[in-house]
Amino acid sequence: MAARPQPYLDDLNPAQRAAVLALDGPVLMLAGAGTGKTKALTSRIVHLLATGKARPNEILAVTFTNKAAREMKERVARMLGQSVEGMPWMGTFHSISVKILRRHAELAGLKSNFTILDTDDQLRLMKQLIVAANIDEKRWPARMLAGLIDSWKNRAWTPAKVPSSEASAYNNRGTELYQQYQDRLRALNACDFGDLLLHVVTLFQAHPDILAQYQRWLKYILVDEYQDTNVAQYLWLRLLAQAHRNICCVGDDDQSIYGWRGAEVGNILRFEKDFPGAEVVRLEQNYRSTEHILAAASGVISGNSDRLGKTLWTEAKGGEKVRLIGHWDGEEEARWIGDEVEALQRGSRSMEAQSLDHMAILVRASHQMRAFEDRFLTIGLPYRVIGGPRFYERLEIRDAMAYFRLAVSPDDDLAFERVVNTPKRGLGDKAQQEIQKTARASGMSLLEGARELLARGGIGGKGAGQLRAFVDGVDRWHAAILNARPEVADAVIEPMVPDAVPQSDMGHVRLAEVILEESGYTSMWQNDKTPEAAGRLENLKELVKALEQFDSLQGFLEHVSLIMENDTEEAAEKVTIMTLHGAKGLEFPVVFLPGWEDGLFPSQRSMNESGQKGLEEERRLAYVGITRAERLCTISFAANRRVYGQWQSQLPSRFIDELPVPHVDVLTPPGLYGGGYGAAGMGGGSRIEERATKADVYNSPGWRRLQDRSATRPISQPRESKQQVIDLDAVSSFTEGDRVFHTKFGYGTVAAIEGDKLDIAFDKAGVKKIIARFVVPAHE
Ligand code: ATP
Ligand code: MG
Repeated sequence: MAARPQPYLDDLNPAQRAAVLALDGPVLMLAGAGTGKTKALTSRIVHLLATGKARPNEILAVTFTNKAAREMKERVARMLGQSVEGMPWMGTFHSISVKILRRHAELAGLKSNFTILDTDDQLRLMKQLIVAANIDEKRWPARMLAGLIDSWKNRAWTPAKVPSSEASAYNNRGTELYQQYQDRLRALNACDFGDLLLHVVTLFQAHPDILAQYQRWLKYILVDEYQDTNVAQYLWLRLLAQAHRNICCVGDDDQSIYGWRGAEVGNILRFEKDFPGAEVVRLEQNYRSTEHILAAASGVISGNSDRLGKTLWTEAKGGEKVRLIGHWDGEEEARWIGDEVEALQRGSRSMEAQSLDHMAILVRASHQMRAFEDRFLTIGLPYRVIGGPRFYERLEIRDAMAYFRLAVSPDDDLAFERVVNTPKRGLGDKAQQEIQKTARASGMSLLEGARELLARGGIGGKGAGQLRAFVDGVDRWHAAILNARPEVADAVIEPMVPDAVPQSDMGHVRLAEVILEESGYTSMWQNDKTPEAAGRLENLKELVKALEQFDSLQGFLEHVSLIMENDTEEAAEKVTIMTLHGAKGLEFPVVFLPGWEDGLFPSQRSMNESGQKGLEEERRLAYVGITRAERLCTISFAANRRVYGQWQSQLPSRFIDELPVPHVDVLTPPGLYGGGYGAAGMGGGSRIEERATKADVYNSPGWRRLQDRSATRPISQPRESKQQVIDLDAVSSFTEGDRVFHTKFGYGTVAAIEGDKLDIAFDKAGVKKIIARFVVPAHE
């Protein structure tokens, strides 16, 4: 052991220390969240450097994100007490693979300046091949082929290695197209993301001399978040490690959340087989979270059947229970969380004042972020969105807003430029320059320039018809805003949408939808088969939903420009909004987990696509979410959410049922019952009619289960809360003679009860059979 002091070892428990000191030979550290795996891994790097066992360029450290790699370098430097002179081999699988591949590109049939295709390019290329192969792209979309090829690459199968059991894939043409695709990529001197790993693995396999060189250079290999590696990554690691066997992998099978990207938990089991004699380190003490948080997370994950199983404990006894709260809708959820964040910042909960940096909102789907961003912008609460642009900065949102801007002011040239050829309208650079020139020559707006150019036949081909349709579209939308009927479209022009909706008395929300439909913008994303397209469509729906809170498109646009303007001032502290996937490995004293509703979380898509396996992966995601919290974890759900433009009543997530009761505090939702949703109010608002009634919430099985559970002990009230306890009896059942209210039929009296159906004698509408959850007790 080196003579210098090793204070970094003092911070570790015996199991961690053993993992750090066992520098030579294979080590597998398999342990639950917050047990200090990453800390041990980092200390191991420090130890390698401090003892002189390895130089910085001899350590290969693979982490999940570039951000994690940067943080690790900083931590190492801090622990060493000196800056680390470059650690070139610390990064993600992809970033390290690029480095290797650039050096040996010619062996993979590429030049060293090869380009890396993004998903769009990848799909475009595949489409060309599909068309050339005479395959009906509608039945066999490019996205399907892309997914197939990706999954083969994740398993490290080159076209020649795809097993015959896959021969029927993609209408029996999968393997053939895969080969063609790879040939095309080579001809283009390009590779896609999956290739980065695949080429390196193939290269190492074909050229033992080169592999041996890397084995000599990279003496020590460390891998964080090992549970999320796929087969190709595993082989990559195994090839590099098999000579010296100095490989240390740390992970947690319960946190495997990238199955859809081909990650295989089975790699954990393979490790011990491939590296016999591996030291297996188990860590059981959690240093991150309080007892209640840990117990809640353990309770949820115990619902999974396929687990290696482990014990977790913490010295942090007591603390706050996991808080659970249901809300009326997503907006109310955002409002409540905003208020809570501010209360915690002031220190008016049971904790001392918390910095905004200590708080995070972790969502299942990125479209959930909009409600929080809007609310936080409105109340001036600084926030950061990690892992993606903020809502109003997203590509599809900026495009859609450009359409709205044009509709409001057709002279908005910037907006015109942005969308005139999005979706593609056959207007090349030349045509667009012509428009610019014409407009400039007569000092007109681009829209007017386009109109004039069309009038004098200055634009030819397919572009002319489409440009005319675009110009007419803007005219129609603008006219709709001025609430005047648009001029009847010229009969020779093909309309953008066959049945243009009559627009005379259209509300601005509907108009926004119409604009996105008629312009072809929505269908552009509907026809787009990239993985991002679905998310973009969801964001567009979110945008339309946001409009509801304003009187007009113009009012909305003003709001957005004002809040964006305000926000340019950099705040020092910010609350974090990010997805659960992105939060892996991170920790925050205070965590909010909104949107725990069946269909949203667990997500319907993952359950549809992968059944029980999908559900188990969602459950691991729930485990990841809860275990990010150090001291306070709040789970919430809403009874109503607008999904694809429709109000839907939501059921609390099944994961809520799996939270162990003794570790959970059920808070009473604000606003519900007596809090502004009175029967009279319900009759008045037309929007409310579309939504579930209050009784829906109360009578939903999920809500009942929840209340039954909390009814076994007194519902504890959050401090300083004005909230009321729900009188369960008053809402969960009706008896004959009860006066009730229905949003459509008005007031009535319950005449008979049969299961969940009520015969109600309405004062005005006569006797009707109504499902109980569609009425509320009347407050006359
Ligand atoms: P995850 O599974 O979420 O990635 P992890 O196992 O990597 O978690 P770390 O992030 O390394 O856990 O550690 C969790 C927290 O516990 C960190 O704040 C870390 O500093 C602290 N910690 C780890 N080990 C110890 C220890 N021996 N003594 C005190 N604190 C520790
Ligand atoms: Mg970690």
